[in-house]
Amino acid sequence: MLSDIEIANAATLQPIRDVAASTLGIDEEHLVPYGHYKAKVDLSYLAGLADRPLGKLVLVTALSPTPPGEGKTTTTVGLTDALHGLGHRTVACLREPSMGPVFGMKGGAAGGGYSQVVPMTDINLHFTGDFAAIAAANNLLAALIDNHVHHGNELDIDVRSVTWKRVLDTNDRALRQVAVAMGGHANGFPREDGFDIVVASELMAIFCLTESWADLKRRIGDIVIGYTRDTKPVTARELGADGAMSVLLRDALAPNLVQTLEGAPAFVHGGPFANIAHGCSSVSATRAGLRLADIVVTEAGFGADLGAEKFVDIKCRKSGLRPDVAVVVATVRALKYHGGVALPDLGTEDLGAVEAGMVNLRRHLANIRNVYGIPCVVAVNRFPTDTDAEIAKVVELVAAEGVSAFPATHFAEGGVGARDLANGVLTMLEQPSPYTFSFTYDDADPLTEKVEAIATRLYGAGLVTWDARARRRLERIERDGYGDLPVCVAKTQYSFSTDPTSLGAPSGHELHVREVRLSAGAGFVVVVCGDMMTMPGLPRDPSAARIDLADDGTILGLS
Ligand code: ADP
Ligand code: MG
Repeated sequence: MLSDIEIANAATLQPIRDVAASTLGIDEEHLVPYGHYKAKVDLSYLAGLADRPLGKLVLVTALSPTPPGEGKTTTTVGLTDALHGLGHRTVACLREPSMGPVFGMKGGAAGGGYSQVVPMTDINLHFTGDFAAIAAANNLLAALIDNHVHHGNELDIDVRSVTWKRVLDTNDRALRQVAVAMGGHANGFPREDGFDIVVASELMAIFCLTESWADLKRRIGDIVIGYTRDTKPVTARELGADGAMSVLLRDALAPNLVQTLEGAPAFVHGGPFANIAHGCSSVSATRAGLRLADIVVTEAGFGADLGAEKFVDIKCRKSGLRPDVAVVVATVRALKYHGGVALPDLGTEDLGAVEAGMVNLRRHLANIRNVYGIPCVVAVNRFPTDTDAEIAKVVELVAAEGVSAFPATHFAEGGVGARDLANGVLTMLEQPSPYTFSFTYDDADPLTEKVEAIATRLYGAGLVTWDARARRRLERIERDGYGDLPVCVAKTQYSFSTDPTSLGAPSGHELHVREVRLSAGAGFVVVVCGDMMTMPGLPRDPSAARIDLADDGTILGLS
């Protein structure tokens, strides 16, 4: 089989104005084209569709993954193509890839095989410049903070308490901790600082949770950048930064439209981390999709304990969106991994390990149905090494849980490979849900109880413990009036616990909270459990070494 980039480079794309018109009924005048194959859809036009009925929302999530990933993005695209092929007006909503992993280890994030969004190289690289705009706005605020201190510090900012970092869209461990304003009087007051990757910034989360310019500006104004010397929160509004930052993000806020390899429409917009942020593409794209199409298929990052939880408890809570069906991506290899098979041996048939690993998927299915209250189906994303017996085993084990599982071969075959899955989803969409959608906790619960609800109801944890500093920080956050915000747990995606090697379905474990951060503009409190990297490093053998530009201008080596 050809590589992802070979398939993408060989594709014949339709002009995006034709895709917009034929699939979503958007006239050319409402597009802001970026070349022939990418366009933003005008925000004022989208705002004018407010009284249109909303389509159905399909959330693609997964069991706890193996390090290479189980194929949520690929399945989101494959399912969209299948529904599109069956004649349903369907749009995919995906996150924009970060260039950190593109040049690092994981590679791009535009799907894979014959289930990709294109132009793949554009989407994985600078795309429509949204991340550059977010970085510029983020770094403007950083500059305004140091400038304010330099010119007399009227607000009495305690420079030791500044939490607002500078960002860039590159994995660069050398910038994790730096000293700024070195070099004497004219350069300001020296302080310790650090860089985060763009996708880890609060501004990225804000960008993805807002739908209007007014709300964008309000949220930016609410950002808490640090504290005064008498410990009062200092906001971006007090620094006069909200207007200028919003100006830099004005155009980026309109969702980006591209196409799948099969000509279905896809919004690729925003891309926050799934650990210290909520890991979902923009609300503006999701809502646009629901107004323009009958079915929106969207992905939430990581496994269902993190991505789907934040989709429900943050994105849905804030926006009023409600998923109608969840598609849980499972793979034979991940089940075997949870059943005790080591990563290098996952290609060997092992029915016993599939059965043993089912404990992981079983807990996710229970959480989705009984805690979030969303009906679900399982997509068995078929890999080349999977045997028929293993696939049959997964279907049988999932059926025993009262859930339908559909083997899908969209990676190798495109949309036809996900046709059974699509029909399964359509059947679910037609039936009334036997569940009641609900959040994991209430706004009014104390922050500690919110964390306990997630830990005990979803992760199977026995208790939550707090680092003394984290506890004090939490108390200050509540005292400052942010106690009614939802929480965003940052932990490993590989386990229900905070230990990435604790596979399967651990229970009775301790969830230790190491650090607490306030994202007042995004509107959540980040609870950091375990080591959390907001500026990744490059691996010993980075993808960058294999990415190349041919003499004819063809981009090679992206994966
Ligand atoms: P996720 O969104 O869950 O992280 P992706 O869809 O990005 O996962 O897929 C992870 C990696 O696995 C990608 O490199 C993708 O090309 C590859 N992949 C996905 N599905 C298959 C499959 N069925 N067979 C082979 N490779 C696959
Ligand atoms: Mg993905």
